[in-house]
Amino acid sequence: MKVLGIWFGGAEACNKNWRERTAKVKQKLGLWGGRSLSITGKNLVIRCEVLSGLLYLAQVWPVPRSYSSEITRAVFRFVWGSKMKRVRRTAMHKSLDNGGKNVPNVALTLMASFVCGCIKLCVDPRYVGTKYYYVPRFYLSPWLRRMGLAPLPRNTPVSWSLPPYLSFVEKFFKTNAFDHRAIRQWSARNVLQALQEKDVMDTVGWFPEQTVQFIWQNASSPDLTNRHKDLAWLAARGALPVRSLLYARNGSSTPRCPREDCNGVESGAHLFAHCGFAKKVWKRMEGTVLRCMPSSCAMSPA
Ligand SMILES: [Zn+2]
Repeated sequence: MKVLGIWFGGAEACNKNWRERTAKVKQKLGLWGGRSLSITGKNLVIRCEVLSGLLYLAQVWPVPRSYSSEITRAVFRFVWGSKMKRVRRTAMHKSLDNGGKNVPNVALTLMASFVCGCIKLCVDPRYVGTKYYYVPRFYLSPWLRRMGLAPLPRNTPVSWSLPPYLSFVEKFFKTNAFDHRAIRQWSARNVLQALQEKDVMDTVGWFPEQTVQFIWQNASSPDLTNRHKDLAWLAARGALPVRSLLYARNGSSTPRCPREDCNGVESGAHLFAHCGFAKKVWKRMEGTVLRCMPSSCAMSPA
């Protein structure tokens, strides 16, 4: 039976819902994939076209693992424009200041949305005593007490085992640890924020550690266009399609730099700093380039 756009009835209903939505998401991403967008533009598509269409369902039916992985795969294929991933997924999800690209973690957002919905019905004063309150409270009460989120109710019965449908809640907290007692309002946004606060800043292999913060700030500077931000970020990440990277993935016949008299391995660092040609360019351009940068990072990588 379909109620307000969602299928109900039996164990197959959950899969039926997610199968339909996943197909729709892939179709949408396929259409958007035909355009040449920056990563920032693609993030917007993921938020508006993918997440917005799934959040409603995610609050009713927890997304099964097989579908969340399928959606995640489709999202990253869309971000990279191919099956070849050049940066770890966990790094892509990090904030710009931490060296990430703020790519929405769709699977985590969907699960957080379901979990928060369940907890909210049990602990939010707006729902206490309403008809939405008693069923989740019956099943979740012992778990809520264990987590320090709510005491056991005094005059109503509780269940000591979780139905499979609600075991997702327990699983979510096992795999994603954060300070759940500090959450005042149970929304997916607050939970994701609490999880993101635990992220640490990524380093850049070929730069000293104390400059890394400036590198990520500059790579996402509002003075740059989105394309330039992508270029700077990919360069710092060592994820530009340079020959060493392509060679490692059978995309180039040699990892060597094509410049005459240069026999170095063409990595991002070589291309921008260590190659003889790059050094010549730096010598000529250094003054101009550094004048355009904040003084805090007036340094050449060479
Ligand atoms: Zn070279």
